[in-house]
Parts: sequence; C-alpha cells; structure tokens
Amino acid sequence: MRVFTTVEDLKNHIKNKSEITSEIGFVPTMGALHEGHMSLVYKCLVENSLVVVSIFVNPTQFDNLDDLDKYPRALDSDIELLKKKSKNIIVFAPSAKNLYKGDPKSIHYDFGGLENEMEGKFRVGHFNGVGTVLKLLFEAVNPNRVYLGEKDFQQLQIVKKMVEIEKFPIEVVGCEIYREAHGLAYSSRNERLTKLQRSEAKLIFETLSRVKNEFGTKSVVELNEMVSQVFESHELLKLEYFEIANVENLKTAKHIDISKKYRAFIAVFADKVRLIDNIALN
Ligand code: AMP
Repeated sequence: MRVFTTVEDLKNHIKNKSEITSEIGFVPTMGALHEGHMSLVYKCLVENSLVVVSIFVNPTQFDNLDDLDKYPRALDSDIELLKKKSKNIIVFAPSAKNLYKGDPKSIHYDFGGLENEMEGKFRVGHFNGVGTVLKLLFEAVNPNRVYLGEKDFQQLQIVKKMVEIEKFPIEVVGCEIYREAHGLAYSSRNERLTKLQRSEAKLIFETLSRVKNEFGTKSVVELNEMVSQVFESHELLKLEYFEIANVENLKTAKHIDISKKYRAFIAVFADKVRLIDNIALN
C-alpha cells in the first residue's frame, strides 16, 4: 500500500500510473474510518481501476475550534483498515501546509443559495471550507469519479455545484447512508459518545423513520411539531434543527408539492457531540 503525504509525490505517482489506467476513483475523508467510509471505498474499488482515499482533517471547514481539536485522528489504524481491504489503495494524507501551500484559507463560493440552508445556518463558513479543500484535493488526485455519502446530503449537493463552477470533468457519485444495527448512521463522531448516549442516539433514525411513515398523511407543520416534542424533554439529546426540504434547492418546505422530491434533515447534540442525519421521504 502506498501512502503519500505531499501533493507533489502523489501527482508524480498518479501520473505514472495513469499511463496504464484511466479510471481513477477518489474517496475523500477526514479519517477515523468506519463502516460508513468503507462502504464508499468498496463501491469505488468495484467501479475504478485506481482508488485514492484521502485522510485529512480540514481546518477551514470547522466553525468550532473545540470540535476541530477533539476530532478523532487515527491515521495508523486507518491505513491498516484500508490495507486489509486492498493493498492497491493509495492513501493521501497531506499536512495542511502542503495541501494549502501555506496557511489554510477558504475560497468564497456562491453555491446558488445551497450554502445558506441548514448546516450553512449553523456552521458559518463551513461550505466554503468544504468547497476549497475538495477543489485542492481534486487538483491533486485528478479523479474521474468521486464518492461521497448521502449522510452529508447538503455537502453532496454543494460538491456537485462546485464541480460545475470549477468545470472539473468529474462524476460525483452519491452513496447511501450506512447505519449501525440499531439505525444510528456511522460517523467518526460516534466514537466520542458514551455508551448510553450511543444507545439513546438511535432515537434520531427512529424519528426520521417515523417522519417518513407519516409523510403524506400529516402536514409539514404537524411533522415539525411531532419531532420537536420527541426531543423536547429528552435528557441526553438536544435538537438543533429539523427540516423537511426540497432535494434540489434544499429550501425548507412549507407545503408539499407531490411532483417534487423531499428529504428530512436533522441535527442533534449529545452533550458537545453534534450528530446529523437525513432520510428520503418520497
Ligand atoms: P468524513 O470523514 O466525515 O468527512 O466523511 C467522508 C465521506 O464519508 C463523506 O462523503 C461522508 O458523507 C461519507 N460518510 C460518512 N459517514 C457515512 C455513512 N454513515 N454512510 C455513508 N457515507 C458516509
């Protein structure tokens, strides 16, 4: 397994390799790999002859320094996990200084309003950071396809937009949310939950599933009310937001137009750990 820590070394290696292969698949991650990430890696391995997985905790997408500080880092075990899957995977784990060519700074993007909804309201500057790091990573890897999880559905839509803005010839492949047995979406942040918090956090997916079941029989107002009540008196989980939004523009739905596609989005705090999830409604 090859591990590269600079853009220059990675580019040289890929340049040599791409003379014999043209299908480069890329899975960008922030590491502390779990089954959710690995589901993207499996798909990428099946559909491409060369697979690059990046492991980089991107400072410009964190609006909260404590969250950045506490974000789990596990490079050695991540490499072991990937190696078990395939020795042909290329790992790219640059330093911030090397990737950003100096101090990390975000480009200011206009994502057509996608950046102002949900996560954008609660994490100021987050999507400029995401757009910027992925632009830099795409330039380093030069992939044909990039694999991103629907777990971060808003991010997925924003990356599709960034690829359009930057005119990258890259196919963006959205991958289904991979869940633990009781429904909690795999996340690197789950590691920071206590046993009790982790078990209680199944309520997030249970609630989304309930919304899905009742979608079409209850109004948006009633569904919002139902979700607020579920979390109102909960001892361990605090609701930050719940929204039903149009999949295309991510605008909050006030009424349902059955010709459109909707998803329900949720962000919940378990003490200081922030968990997000979403579900397709129709
Ligand atoms: P992260 O390391 O959290 O930045 O995630 C890297 C990629 O893995 C992103 O495209 C995420 O959406 C995706 N991902 C994270 N958790 C899951 C999951 N439970 N199911 C599917 N994809 C996921």
